[in-house]
Amino acid sequence: MQQIARAVAMAFNTLPRTHRIMLGSLTVVTLAVSVWRPYVYHPVSNSPIVKTVELEKNQLRTLLPEASEPIDQAPPTPEEDVPKDEIDEDVPNETGTHDYVVSSGDTLSSVLNQYGIDMGVISQLVKVDNDLRNLRVGQQLSWTLTDDGQLQRLSWETSRRETRIYDRFGDGFKSSSEIQKGEWQNSVLAGTVNGSFVSSARQAGLSGGEISAVIKALQWQLDFRKLRKGDRFSVLMSREMLDGKSEQSHLAGVRLQSGGKDYYAIRAEDGKFYDRSGSGLARGFMRFPTVKQYRVSSNFNPRRVNPVTGRVAPHRGVDFAVPIGTPVLAVGDGEVIVAKRSGGAGNYIAVRHGRQYMTRYMHLKKLLVKPGQKVKRGDRIGLTGNTGRSTGPHLHYEIWINNQAVNPLTAKLPRMEGLTGKDRSDYLARVREVTPKLKLQ
Ligand SMILES: [Zn+2]
Repeated sequence: MQQIARAVAMAFNTLPRTHRIMLGSLTVVTLAVSVWRPYVYHPVSNSPIVKTVELEKNQLRTLLPEASEPIDQAPPTPEEDVPKDEIDEDVPNETGTHDYVVSSGDTLSSVLNQYGIDMGVISQLVKVDNDLRNLRVGQQLSWTLTDDGQLQRLSWETSRRETRIYDRFGDGFKSSSEIQKGEWQNSVLAGTVNGSFVSSARQAGLSGGEISAVIKALQWQLDFRKLRKGDRFSVLMSREMLDGKSEQSHLAGVRLQSGGKDYYAIRAEDGKFYDRSGSGLARGFMRFPTVKQYRVSSNFNPRRVNPVTGRVAPHRGVDFAVPIGTPVLAVGDGEVIVAKRSGGAGNYIAVRHGRQYMTRYMHLKKLLVKPGQKVKRGDRIGLTGNTGRSTGPHLHYEIWINNQAVNPLTAKLPRMEGLTGKDRSDYLARVREVTPKLKLQ
């Protein structure tokens, strides 16, 4: 009896708190049993209760995987006439299904292996779905075993929406997936600009992703940085609700009133935004900033090495061999943000188009626009020259997308878009449905 008590005390002190509580409860039961039924400790008796004291930490988990089950119900009570080793067999299978919430440091093999599922089975699972190598904290795993202890089915809740299921199939497993569908609901969120548009929209209840969808939808029509206090907006969001939370959302339409003028963008079936007449909001870009197409004298090359210094000196644009005095055209609608003389670039112009695009035109002989000026696609903005660091007449032309220089000859550019035929009549029906919902506050 003393030895047992010592063993209990030692094991007790080395275990984490939750296990101490479990083991403490077991010990109480053990003591109770020893008082009531001392014959349990007969040398030939293979009492399950004595065995629990010898269990390793991992084995304890095997016995008690479900925290939902109070520990003091797990061991057999003295009154019950139970088989001697029932505690080993019965408890883990009591519910038929094991549940496990992934915590930090867990891997599929570390989780399943401690429940006695062997590595061969685990590698079969990973063979079916390699993603199983990347469990994330908080995900839930559940599995059922066959009567002879083989893994029958594993399910992995990868998110609130998706559960992947692996069923035993022949020598391996086959996987399937269940996607929980939420309910789509329309919400109108309206507000007044006070401070930045982002903070005003947030106040009206839009999420970060929803706000950028709004800004993107209207980017060709207005500059959000120029909104004024008191400008009003109304947004129709279609949100998929699951468990009371918005799982994903689509912008269905937006109306923004600035300086007494209304701007609309309404989503069509194709996922793109058009104005109320079904015309595309982006007018599209021209590929070349000149009427004629000229020879390329130097290509876009982000890793170009300067032949003199040997250093990497990226060539962020493309050079066209253009005679001096050739008109330079804005490739798309936009606003001039720079038009000045500067060192290496000579006379140069930068135009911002919407939120994501910027174009730059360098070594010009003459500037025909001023900063802040609005330009349309095809407008003359300058004349080519040989100013700045330039070894001969040419036009250096750059396109930047999301603050990154891209190859102007291959970049994916906004195209002129519009709806025709049935697409357009469907869209106009949608406009009639959505527009009245976009009420301003
Ligand atoms: Zn160049």
